[in-house]
Amino acid sequence: MIQITQQRAKCIGCNYCVEIAPERWRMNKKDGKSVLLEAKEKKGFFTVELHDMEYEANKAAASACPVKIIHVKILNR
Ligand code: SF4
Repeated sequence: MIQITQQRAKCIGCNYCVEIAPERWRMNKKDGKSVLLEAKEKKGFFTVELHDMEYEANKAAASACPVKIIHVKILNR
């Protein structure tokens, strides 16, 4: 399993995460920020846990994010 976290308030809407990992990210046209699909919010941080299959794409999205608000970690269970 992996865990992806987004500190959404700081998103500048550059769209990189949506382009790099389209199965996990969408742009919200209303507020111009990206949405981490199926994530739950806690104190401004949106988090989702899912299968390792999406690790590479989301790791690339995290690297590309200009404001570095996407974090991906491997969960040891
Ligand atoms: S790459 Fe970062 S700043 Fe750009 S839309 Fe995604 S979360 Fe927002």
